[in-house]
Amino acid sequence: MLIYLDAGHGGRDSRGNPVTPGKRTPDGSMLEWEFNSKVAEYVEAELKNYQNVTVKRSDDRTGRTDVSLSERTNRANRDKASVFVSIHANGYGLGWNSANGIETFVYITKPAGAVKLANLVQKHMVNDTGRANRRVKSANFAVLRTSNMTAILCECGFMTNRDEATLLKSDSYRRKIAHAIVKGLVECYGLKPIKKEPETPKQSPGGNVFYRVVTGSFLEKSNGLERIEELKKKNFSSFLDAYEKNGKTYFRCITGSFTSRKNALERMASLDRAGFDSFLDLYKK
Ligand SMILES: [Zn+2]
Repeated sequence: MLIYLDAGHGGRDSRGNPVTPGKRTPDGSMLEWEFNSKVAEYVEAELKNYQNVTVKRSDDRTGRTDVSLSERTNRANRDKASVFVSIHANGYGLGWNSANGIETFVYITKPAGAVKLANLVQKHMVNDTGRANRRVKSANFAVLRTSNMTAILCECGFMTNRDEATLLKSDSYRRKIAHAIVKGLVECYGLKPIKKEPETPKQSPGGNVFYRVVTGSFLEKSNGLERIEELKKKNFSSFLDAYEKNGKTYFRCITGSFTSRKNALERMASLDRAGFDSFLDLYKK
């Protein structure tokens, strides 16, 4: 399915001037675009891990122009997108005030598909951030009116609220919101994650072959020794194995050598749980 992400408004032009009037925190410390575009970026990155999903952006990724509302939905309509998710931060009045919370909009006709998606996204955003639930609402917003597909518009917190402005500026809040939007999409459309299979032969190649679990490859021996120490702290014992490639000597950190592929995969899983990436290497003696 094709999902269109719409980061609301624009950033700064080549001279550094904001391309969207207003749409910033009262103290000017953050343009709304900065939040919207980062969240869109994180949603897109996360959706790459799901099967049969393509993501496009309706906005100018650089933020140098504020793409018109009609152009945004024209793009999604032309591409026959299935879903349109518009990402925004809210504002109330001109100065700081107490308005706060998260809300998600659907068009005034309340299309069932949009209501379903909006409810799921809203639920996850509120649960994951702990912010006030202003609920799913309907509005005659242009991007909701002129889009042919399921369309929602998320208002992820108020720029005019001091506490929420601080959150909107933080990377962790942006990632939380992005993750919540992804969870809503996954739940709504039953998206399946892409399975990552280690690239090794399924059959044992026979002979004295070992499946070695490699947790790093280093040009500097000292970096390899450092990796061994990090692994030791999590109770994994490792050794360095030097090998030549393109005239250079690399030091591989080996954390386990097995005659059974299954045992090697189990070691990789426990390394993964401890936060270490690894891959399998076939080693013939
Ligand atoms: Zn906005």
